[in-house]
Amino acid sequence: MTLQCTKKHRYDDRFVSLPDDQGGAGRHKCAGCAYDHGLEDGKRRLETLELGLDVLPESQAGTVRHKSPHAAYALGYYDGVKGSYEVVDAS
Ligand SMILES: [Zn+2]
Repeated sequence: MTLQCTKKHRYDDRFVSLPDDQGGAGRHKCAGCAYDHGLEDGKRRLETLELGLDVLPESQAGTVRHKSPHAAYALGYYDGVKGSYEVVDAS
């Protein structure tokens, strides 16, 4: 049995511009979940990165359909790192 993503991020516009995964290992994985995973790693500025593709839920819905989870993770990681530097400014 495969876990299916039911989160709202499946319809997030930010994933529209991501490249399609053409039959790769991540084709059916939820790019939104990959993004969230990258975001968390980015906030912590992890230096050893692991996509954990195997544990990501799948999704065929909305804007994440067939999008590259690798690209989504990278985007999330970038946003997380960027955000981690902006926390100081907010105080
Ligand atoms: Zn998801």
